[in-house]
Amino acid sequence: MNKDSGVNEFPEENYNSDLPEPFQAIDIAKVALDSANVGIWIMDPASGKFLPSERTRELFGFLPGEEMSFEDAMLKVVDKHRKSVTEAIENAFKKHSSLYIEYPIIGLDEHKQRWLSATGGFSSTAANSSYFSGIIMDITEQKQSDLRRSKFIGMVSHELKTPLTALKAYVQMLNNWAKKQKDNFTIGALSKVDKQVKKMLNMINSLLNLSGAEAGKIHLKKEEFRLDVLINEVVEETLFITSAHHIVINPCAIVNVNADREKIEQVLVNLLSNAAKYSEKTAQIEIACVLQHNHIEVSVRDQGLGIAQADIQKLFLPHYRVESKETEKIAGFGIGLYLCAEIINRHHGKIWAESELGKGSTFKFTLPLN
Ligand code: ADP
Repeated sequence: MNKDSGVNEFPEENYNSDLPEPFQAIDIAKVALDSANVGIWIMDPASGKFLPSERTRELFGFLPGEEMSFEDAMLKVVDKHRKSVTEAIENAFKKHSSLYIEYPIIGLDEHKQRWLSATGGFSSTAANSSYFSGIIMDITEQKQSDLRRSKFIGMVSHELKTPLTALKAYVQMLNNWAKKQKDNFTIGALSKVDKQVKKMLNMINSLLNLSGAEAGKIHLKKEEFRLDVLINEVVEETLFITSAHHIVINPCAIVNVNADREKIEQVLVNLLSNAAKYSEKTAQIEIACVLQHNHIEVSVRDQGLGIAQADIQKLFLPHYRVESKETEKIAGFGIGLYLCAEIINRHHGKIWAESELGKGSTFKFTLPLN
């Protein structure tokens, strides 16, 4: 306890008597934290008691010595991010899992937004009671440079999309002409060109949406459509590109949803192509959609590589890719799932993954009805 301010403080005594004399009085942990400019916090899940370090309070825009409760900290989180931040923390508490979140806050300067990252996990004391602790970092600069990069990507992908769309239209015209001529060689060749053009358009659309999402600009064009019809269409398209996999559609509820058809299509394409990409060529992929009382739940299950528990909650972060011997040979940008999460969140749905390493994964998302 800091006697002057009455604010909880971390103990300063952590001296290391194994070091040569001039260094013995140095608190190594404190030096490391100061030079890395990180804040630390501890929370006791039983009592809800929250103990932030001086730097943590400072990062949230509190003056030296000022009290900061957990609720005070959450009030500084920018409104539209607060729900997902509290949910992620509650989830880590419930599941006793680790935490990694990034979010914007409005600190001391009311007009300036800064980005923080929070990492946390459970540890045990010698007396065997467990507490939740972690670190907070200022990632504003990194976020700003991400934004510049994504604006650039957005511009480039927009320029690339125009000629590719024209190319796609010409391939279709040629295909119609070849069919009339009954020219099977040309029909076969054009079908291969079409596949590659579709793959490129999917990639460019992902890049375009990435730059929109990072700038907080995913615009939804909502309309009523039948989700089961869309699922069938996407499965057909996916089979056209990855014909080796065996895709099974479980009987799907006939239901109209009010959503952005193109974006939901993109989510389904991403989940299905990931299921194909991260499993054996001939493995089975199962897609299902189940009607629940006020929402519809879609799931894509594969029998592929599976994902370790530690990676599961990071999958939906931008550019996150699981690093392993198996995945290093598989190409990707690590943005597909991030985009899926942005799209589903904008629809007020939920998206998550269930998986066991070596046994396969199931990705699920919900869309609210009405
Ligand atoms: P990408 O596949 O381009 O790397 P994604 O954002 O779609 O990017 O996926 C992020 C990471 O999640 C992937 O790199 C992969 O490690 C993991 N992943 C996604 N889907 C699956 C799956 N069905 N099975 C196993 N791992 C997956």
